[in-house]
Amino acid sequence: MRCLVISDIHANFPALQTVLVDAQPFDAVWCLGDLVGYGPNPNRCIERLLDFSLTCIAGNHDWGAIGRADLYVFNRDARQALYWTQNELTPENRAFLSDLPTTAKIDDFFLAHGSPRDPIWEYTVDLKTVTENFQTFDARVALVGHTHIPVLFEWVETNKQVRVLLPDWEEPIHLDERRLIVNPGSVGQPRDGNPRASYGILDTEARTWESRRVTYPVEITQEQMRARGLPQRLIDRLELGR
Ligand code: ZN
Repeated sequence: MRCLVISDIHANFPALQTVLVDAQPFDAVWCLGDLVGYGPNPNRCIERLLDFSLTCIAGNHDWGAIGRADLYVFNRDARQALYWTQNELTPENRAFLSDLPTTAKIDDFFLAHGSPRDPIWEYTVDLKTVTENFQTFDARVALVGHTHIPVLFEWVETNKQVRVLLPDWEEPIHLDERRLIVNPGSVGQPRDGNPRASYGILDTEARTWESRRVTYPVEITQEQMRARGLPQRLIDRLELGR
């Protein structure tokens, strides 16, 4: 099966639609949470994903948008965008977000938004956190989002350490039998200094992972955000990719 693995769409429909076209062909979409928040198209993004064979889990902004997370844990701009999102969501889409599980397991793959042990909130950034998390899931590979930074972490059993693998944008990598924590980056608000939408293609039979980037019309998203009165800092950061 060829899976499109996406995370942190953040209600950015132009970015999502560009990725869905660029990634073809694929059999299923695995979405690692934060469908909404920050961006201008929460309903459209949710409804578009329902066109596909979809496995989806919840992120912290999804919880914020349905009132399941205290909005005061978010920074001011994120909070303002979440208040706007709460008003904007249709009852159907609010119900969809409410029903999302916090983790999923498919074959050899464990899906979580933040980290395997703390799926909504923990960032898998520093090596201590990543190392600890390798002990907390049974599957060979965990797929996570939340940091908006595309990266692969490999568990090296011989020295019990984590190795950081930067994404290869040119060629798929073989997963082999390795234990990995893989982050596809963010579709709708990349933060690694590259404004292009980030995603991954996972081939579960060939056991390959492909990190990919695609340019989308950032200015259309920015224009929609302006029209909806979303915070200027959130508008500006999209073209910077940080
Ligand atoms: Zn996010």
